[in-house]
Amino acid sequence: MEKGKVFYRLYNYLWGALDWVFPPNCGGCDVQGERFCQECTDSIRFVQAPMCDICGRPLEHSGKCIYCAGKVPHYDSMRSIAAFDGPIRAAIHKLKYQNDQGLGEILACMLIKAGCELNWQIDLVIPIPLSASRLKERGYNQSGLLAFPLALYFGIKYAPYACWRVRDTKPQVELSAYERWENVADAFQADNKLVEGKRILIIDDVTTTGATIDASSLALRTAGANRIYCLTLARSVYTNASMMTNE
Ligand SMILES: [Zn+2]
Ligand SMILES: [Zn+2]
Repeated sequence: MEKGKVFYRLYNYLWGALDWVFPPNCGGCDVQGERFCQECTDSIRFVQAPMCDICGRPLEHSGKCIYCAGKVPHYDSMRSIAAFDGPIRAAIHKLKYQNDQGLGEILACMLIKAGCELNWQIDLVIPIPLSASRLKERGYNQSGLLAFPLALYFGIKYAPYACWRVRDTKPQVELSAYERWENVADAFQADNKLVEGKRILIIDDVTTTGATIDASSLALRTAGANRIYCLTLARSVYTNASMMTNE
């Protein structure tokens, strides 16, 4: 077994041991015994092709969506795993706001599976950073809990300090689409010593407008990143159910 996978297994066992000591409730439906139960897993609506080549938005045909055709994002490619609804929405909420940190490790399995299929060539894994004040208040970065096991699994350097917020921003969830772009514009900076010439994978929990990922990609691009890929657990922009699958 590769070295990275050994560390991943250890991390996996550690959470398994914690489950044994503190039996978990499902992040999706609250049933006792598992962090994310099979029934909830089976009900996930996965994103499926065709989608925008760049931002991964579901489309009726492949190519670019109208947003990416109008203004090319600062990242090269973004993909999301599932629709932001049902048990995934509930689990992300618990991961973010209810200190249910064990969900990060279990939900990261879906990102790892997608990473295997996407086969992007990556040098650094970076979670979307929280502001210093929010990190202090929450005690952990939920995107980091998703990104860290993925970095371990693939044996790629995990670099949570390569990108940071230079100012506090309002929670995006309170804002309109336009306000979200305004809110995060120029909110990030990146360390050119860490990212210059590197192929970066940004990990986040939810994509709504893509504004946060685009603003952090701009900072990474400015610091000299070579390629920028983004993977998020969920997307909240679905209107067309036929573009989704739970296969
Ligand atoms: Zn469940
Ligand atoms: Zn697009």
